[in-house]
Amino acid sequence: MKWFDYAAPPTLAEAVHLRSANPRGLPLAGGTDLLVQLRSGTRETDLVIDVKRVPEFNQISYDPTHGLTLGAAVPCYRIYEDPAVRRAYPALAEVASLIGGVQIQSRASLGGNLCNAAPSADSVPVLIVLRATCRISGPGGTREIQVENFCTGPGRNVLRPGELLVSFHLPPPQSHSGACYLRFTPRNEMDIAVAGVGAAVVVEGGVFRWSRIALAAVAPTPLFVREAGERLTGRPATAGNIAAAAEIATAAASPITDMRGTAEYRRHLCGVLTRRALEAAVQRAGEAKS
Ligand SMILES: Cc1cc2nc3c(=O)[nH]c(=O)nc-3n(C[C@H](O)[C@H](O)[C@H](O)COP(=O)(O)OP(=O)(O)OC[C@H]3O[C@@H](n4cnc5c(N)ncnc54)[C@H](O)[C@@H]3O)c2cc1C
Repeated sequence: MKWFDYAAPPTLAEAVHLRSANPRGLPLAGGTDLLVQLRSGTRETDLVIDVKRVPEFNQISYDPTHGLTLGAAVPCYRIYEDPAVRRAYPALAEVASLIGGVQIQSRASLGGNLCNAAPSADSVPVLIVLRATCRISGPGGTREIQVENFCTGPGRNVLRPGELLVSFHLPPPQSHSGACYLRFTPRNEMDIAVAGVGAAVVVEGGVFRWSRIALAAVAPTPLFVREAGERLTGRPATAGNIAAAAEIATAAASPITDMRGTAEYRRHLCGVLTRRALEAAVQRAGEAKS
């Protein structure tokens, strides 16, 4: 690995200043992607800016009126061990416990998962279906953007020079809601998804009020399939309607063939996982208290 300087600023203002003043500087949260990339030489830098000491990147705060604020550098284990997160956002807690293994979870963050912008990033479909927004700070101030608009291509995102992803905001869960993320990997853990699907629904009286579906590893970016969710709005939660939404999700996928699976296989998985994720989300919506 090439030499680089290391800085761990204690405040957001200092982190933004360092990032702006050093165009080749790279932010580090858990380092589980970044250090692998620096070691393999796929990325180079003169300066690593560790954001973990900045309080805004490390916060978890939930209140039932305003929802969840989750710092971009909060490690996965703090997410799935948080009682409020487990209760209000079980799908988020589950996906945090799915990423890597215990060692990776002690470092890896959802901010790093999103900023790395891998098509297979597991947490991104969940953040999308839970309607998460990103809070971004940079030299020009602060802005917000929906998670579904954050990734622009493999390894690319909307961050402008000098900007940092500070935190996520998730609205509070609605009555009669449920969400689920399912992925297929050849091994049970420590492998990236061949395909993954997140689904969130609100079902009242057996009828979909709304639903959102997002896919992993079947397009150049994590993919929000708005039209698949909209197909369900106002319709009964039947197997036929769920299958129709799964067909729309499958049609939206544009997977590649690689060593993990063929494009055709990924498309097939997309349909199966969308159907199952929707069924699980509907079941959870029934269990959710009104
Ligand atoms: C053994 C192993 C298993 C893994 N398993 C999985 C898995 O099952 N599922 C999965 O999705 N991923 C997996 N990964 C990939 C990785 O662990 C995740 O993507 C993780 O969430 C990255 O988070 P991090 O905090 O470590 O990011 P880092 O490595 O610190 O950063 C990732 C990228 O984001 C940038 N960045 C980080 N924070 C910010 C910020 N606040 N603002 C702007 N840019 C930022 C960094 O500069 C870097 O480019 C695995 C990795 C390993 C090594």
